Amino acid sequence: MSFLQDPATALIVVDIQNDFLPGGALPVPQGDEVIAPINRLMENAFTVVLTADWHPSRHKSFAINHPGKKPFELVDMPYGKQVLWPAHCVAGTEGAAFAEGLVTSCADLILRKGTCAERDSYSAFLEADRRTRTGLAGWLKEREICKVVVCGLAADYCVSWTALDAAQAGFDVCVVTDAVRAIAQVSYDEARTAWSAAGIRTALTNDLVGVTD
Ligand SMILES: [Zn+2]
Repeated sequence: MSFLQDPATALIVVDIQNDFLPGGALPVPQGDEVIAPINRLMENAFTVVLTADWHPSRHKSFAINHPGKKPFELVDMPYGKQVLWPAHCVAGTEGAAFAEGLVTSCADLILRKGTCAERDSYSAFLEADRRTRTGLAGWLKEREICKVVVCGLAADYCVSWTALDAAQAGFDVCVVTDAVRAIAQVSYDEARTAWSAAGIRTALTNDLVGVTD
């Protein structure tokens, strides 16, 4: 049985939304290139979770909600440093919609995150206060899923935090490196170092699709 078809494995597809693609409000360079490999992974996966960044317009991660501040500056939030972003993935807008080419019909769960105005949530498991749980770990564990494969956007933020929190929660984690793209090389290199330290494996789409254990 292929690793992805194992009922104990879930594929987590992070934030393939219009605002993170070229032309969007917070574009990840070459972000559109992950759609084809992700569709292949989803076709071959037993369990698929899609995540979506889903913010109210007054969200505190938006620079526009901090007078005098610009995107990519840092601010202090009650939970620590927060990068300020251009407004993106506002709930219900076209920018928050899944990319047109993404085959969303195979999703078992669509998880919206960052829905609270007061704090961000890069991770699909724990919000930025590092305390508030999204419920995803429980959903997976109730289905006796102990392995997760993570792909999507952006590799150095939401993918990385999701992978690290999954490992912290006790899941066996693998990131598909040809099915992610990063906002910046420096932060991607830091993320890969953190993944290694956390015991997170990496693989390519071809390693996971149609290959037996
Ligand atoms: Zn966001």
